[in-house]
Amino acid sequence: MNAPTAPFVGISDPAQGPRSPSAVGHGVSDQFKHNADLALGDAKLQVALAEMRSSFKGRNEAARKGLPEFQALSDHAKAIKQHVLANLDYYLERFEAKVKAAGGQVHWCNDAAEARDKVLAICRSAGARTVTKGKTMVGEEIAINHHLEANGILPVETDLGEYIIQLRGETPSHIIAPAIHVSKEGVADTFRAHHTDLDPARPLSEITAMLAEARGKLRARFLAADVGITGANFLIAETGSSVIVTNEGNGDLTQTLPKIHIVLAGIEKVVPTLEDATAIFRVLARSATGQEMSVYTTVSTGPRRAHDLDGPGEYHVILLDNGRSGVLGTEFEDMLRCIRCGACMDHCPVYHAIGGHAYGSVYPGPIGAVLTPALFGLAHSKDLPNASTLCGRCESVCPMQIPLPKMLRQWRERSFERHLAPARERWGIKAWAWLARHPQIYRGAMALAARLLRRPATGRIRHLPLGGAWTAGRDFPAASGRTFQEQWRRRARP
Ligand code: SF4
Repeated sequence: MNAPTAPFVGISDPAQGPRSPSAVGHGVSDQFKHNADLALGDAKLQVALAEMRSSFKGRNEAARKGLPEFQALSDHAKAIKQHVLANLDYYLERFEAKVKAAGGQVHWCNDAAEARDKVLAICRSAGARTVTKGKTMVGEEIAINHHLEANGILPVETDLGEYIIQLRGETPSHIIAPAIHVSKEGVADTFRAHHTDLDPARPLSEITAMLAEARGKLRARFLAADVGITGANFLIAETGSSVIVTNEGNGDLTQTLPKIHIVLAGIEKVVPTLEDATAIFRVLARSATGQEMSVYTTVSTGPRRAHDLDGPGEYHVILLDNGRSGVLGTEFEDMLRCIRCGACMDHCPVYHAIGGHAYGSVYPGPIGAVLTPALFGLAHSKDLPNASTLCGRCESVCPMQIPLPKMLRQWRERSFERHLAPARERWGIKAWAWLARHPQIYRGAMALAARLLRRPATGRIRHLPLGGAWTAGRDFPAASGRTFQEQWRRRARP
């Protein structure tokens, strides 16, 4: 494997200034193979990924084992979301009516451009100069930071991980641990480079010191912000509320201190009742960080009322479609149950090897490989569904029981049908399909191939005909013994 020679496609150099929307995630998934090569040769990234493998996975498993009814809760959570998806229009309209009744506003946006423009218009109406943001994947999806910056408004990320990568000019590499690829020393270097008003000789080797420094910097931002933007883990149809969970309390400060609170949410985030949301929360935290519950759960319903001591004067919910309604009723509908816990990527051997940036998408890992083609088009992300061993671990740990391997196969089929896969690959699949329908010839061909692959005296094959992509990075074990079919026939004999 060659050492990396160029920066990741999709990750900007801070010195280059703001990134274009295309470089923030959309349209760079077609660089997946290039990015994966770089990631495999990046020694620092490999150290960070090794730490992630042991930390998240172990915590998730322990948390699940500590809750005997986890499976029953997972069944219940799945049933709630299935019911919502079958009645999505009803619950969204109910939600909108309740938001209005509470004094808030709902904005329906078909695509990212509409959502960006709506956010900008609301910010301008307040004469906003600074906007604080609680963590929102939809914000990443619509590249809202770039849009605000381009229009003279400073967006400030308030989640610690998001704050770190914003300073570094990078994108999240994990949906719940956005800076998982950055080492402790890397964070210290970033703070020294950007917090230039502080003593350059200050000690920054302890995490507590870095936390205190970020807290001090963000406090001033919280107080200066005119608008606060958050995501939503859930939208509650019965009350018109948005609910977010955080571990740092930054969501609370983001939405209660400024004059205006904007909620950015995909249309699939609605659930019927608060009780439904709490049922899903029980599997969310365990699957995400291995906690029983996240530290802060914040429910917002409309703007500040006359007798409230604090809260925003305006409450806006941006409801984003951006391709979601198009997958309702298709073989990909199940992915709308996703609650963005990240468990599938924490257990994915491909994600473990290359990290999140290589996917070139806002949504990495197995769920990203399914979502990205649906939201941003298969033509630019046709390699993502192939970035899976189909081992099934992602499905087995998904609390919403999303059949990810099945959907990855379905995208592969679509890629084949639309002639997006390279011609050689398509011809190979066609030849294989023909052979599989002619068992006599198949058996003969396999026996011949097995004999040819048995030849090398070294026991390893360095150049595999038609498998050059495999042998370019590793050798291939020579075949030994008989084929499966030959062994089966022998065993079947009395
Ligand atoms: S697909 Fe499942 S495991 Fe992956 S983020 Fe979504 S809910 Fe979590």
